Amino acid sequence: MENNKLLQIMDLCVTYKTQEGLVHAVNNLNLEISDKETLGFVGETGAGKTTTAMAIMRLIPCPPGKIEKGKIFFEGEDLLKISDRKMRKIQGKDISMIFQDPMTSLNPVMRISEQIMEMILLHKKINKKEAYAEACKLLELVGIKKERADDYPHQFSGGMKQRVVIAISLACSPKLIIADEPTTALDVTIQAQVLSLMKDLKDEFGTSMILITHDLGVVAEICDKVAIMYAGSVVEYASKEKLYLNPSHPYTKGLFNSIPKLDTDEEFLEEIDGLPPEPTDVISGCAFNPRCPYCMERCEKEKPGITYLDKEHYVCCFLYENK
Ligand code: SF4
Repeated sequence: MENNKLLQIMDLCVTYKTQEGLVHAVNNLNLEISDKETLGFVGETGAGKTTTAMAIMRLIPCPPGKIEKGKIFFEGEDLLKISDRKMRKIQGKDISMIFQDPMTSLNPVMRISEQIMEMILLHKKINKKEAYAEACKLLELVGIKKERADDYPHQFSGGMKQRVVIAISLACSPKLIIADEPTTALDVTIQAQVLSLMKDLKDEFGTSMILITHDLGVVAEICDKVAIMYAGSVVEYASKEKLYLNPSHPYTKGLFNSIPKLDTDEEFLEEIDGLPPEPTDVISGCAFNPRCPYCMERCEKEKPGITYLDKEHYVCCFLYENK
């Protein structure tokens, strides 16, 4: 593993047993993230983004979930092999997670200061008074006056609650933050404020971040690299600039065509034909073949491997083989 790689996922496969059958939520996923880098994880609901995040945190409920195979190296150590005790130390301290709905992360009957302090005291050897002072500092950092530290979550708006969650996630200066659709539950104007806060904090602390989203606008705002996911696999991976200038996988092209453009007077947006596969669907060949306008005979039988368009841009599609 290269030295500056903070996280490296190799060949990860995750399944869930359901009444309808076995769901292959993540299939042979390979990804890496370097120090101080923000990786956007883009795809429709059910593409496997959240499952991958939960696998990194080792929070896949087992059963019904199961990590069938793969390796998740964090700072050179395979998170899937370390003891539960060691993993608990990493959770929250080295890797923290921000969920979509702040109310699922905050305890409604605990003061905000107590909730931030709880995280600080769990991982740092300091006394309560020092932890309280740190909690107030963190609140100010995310734009909340320290005088509000002893309020309860219900006294805050949605955007402010998400700021509190961000403060908790920063409490132990993690090396990696995984943010799962952190602005989806918020109003559009508040979304922009929270995003700009996350961008500032990332720049200030140099924390690496995985940002899970279905919104390419959010990616443009904050990410360095982008992984496009479809049906449990990464189908295209590139730097943000390369992806926006040269989207290559037919699915990525479809995603870009479905965003409104300011520089044309097209009245209608092009949609991607069809629907994402049902979780239990088993599609032979390329998983995108039922929706792909370029589908060839071969696509229905074989799975495309990775083709590098250049050192930092790869795509999984037969159209680019031997080019
Ligand atoms: Fe389309 Fe075939 Fe490429 Fe899959 S491999 S995206 S079906 S052209």
